[in-house]
Parts: sequence; C-alpha cells; structure tokens
Amino acid sequence: MAKKTKKVPRRGVSGNPARRAQAEQLLAEDTLICEICRAPLDWKTANGITSFSHPAGIKLEFEHRPMPTTGKPTPATTVCDFCGETGISASFVTAKQIVVPDVDAQGNPTGTGNGYDKRWVACARCTPLVERGNLAALLDRAAHMLGARHDLGEAQRARLRRDAKRLQEAFFEAEPTGPFPA
Ligand SMILES: [Zn+2]
Ligand SMILES: [Zn+2]
Repeated sequence: MAKKTKKVPRRGVSGNPARRAQAEQLLAEDTLICEICRAPLDWKTANGITSFSHPAGIKLEFEHRPMPTTGKPTPATTVCDFCGETGISASFVTAKQIVVPDVDAQGNPTGTGNGYDKRWVACARCTPLVERGNLAALLDRAAHMLGARHDLGEAQRARLRRDAKRLQEAFFEAEPTGPFPA
C-alpha cells in the first residue's frame, strides 16, 4: 500500500505572478509613516481608540512621539520588521492586514491588539531567512538584536522571542509575496 504523505503547510513566500503584480502596486502607494523620522508606523486599537507606534527596533532610538501622516518611508531610517536592524534591503507584502491580539504573562488575551500594515521590510540578513520561511533563525536573530539593543535580561528576551514568534507566525500565515526591492 502506498504510504500516505502528510501535507505539511510550507512556510515561505508566494511566487504567484498575479499576486506579485498586485503587491507591487500596493508598494508604489503611500503608506502610514511618521512625519518626523519617516519610518512606517504600527498601530494599536483598544476600545475603539487607535494609537500609533514606531516599529520595535526604533522606539528608543528616536525620542519623539510618532506623528502619523502618509508618504513614502525612507529605507535608510526604516528598521527591519523582523530584527529591528536599521537599513533594509527588501520588502514583502502580505495578502491581508495582520492583527495580533495582546496576551498577558499567562498567555490570556487582554482585549487589545496590534495592527500591522501589509508591507513588511527586511534587512539583508533577514531577507533570505524570510524567503526560506526559517522562523527559528529569524526569532533567534530578533531576540539577539532587540535584546542587545534594549539591554534586556534573560526573562525579557524570552518574552520578546515569544511575542516575535506570534507576530512572525501571523506574517507567514498571511501569505506573504516577495521579495521586492526596498
Ligand atoms: Zn518617528
Ligand atoms: Zn533583520
């Protein structure tokens, strides 16, 4: 009898030409950025109120509140959505917007969540990892880079890795297309 092969969902990026054209069009449009540093912004919705924040890697480096506007982000000041490194080399586009619900220390939903644009950017080191869907390597890098930058202890790094895992899993589930030039 033929051995049944279990279908394992492939993690990685789509090469579908129709979706690629669509994604390219989206990348050409203006996006939500900060008027001061021109970095793309994340947003958070709680009880119907939306607030904006800089991506994780940028937060402590730029001592200003995010000023939402629309325009073209500057690649030089844009940080990698995967590890927080400044300077990016590729963009990816997900098929849908991602909202990741917040959880408390016990893993229970808190009722708030973070929203992320369909446009994602990656540094030169993360880009090949994203293309291959190498989640473990991406998370190791994120925990290392962000942990070192913000001088975090062991427990905080573990928490950071857990949060990054939920976000990056959501990214791969949202059927990303790419890479595109940054
Ligand atoms: Zn800013
Ligand atoms: Zn990176």
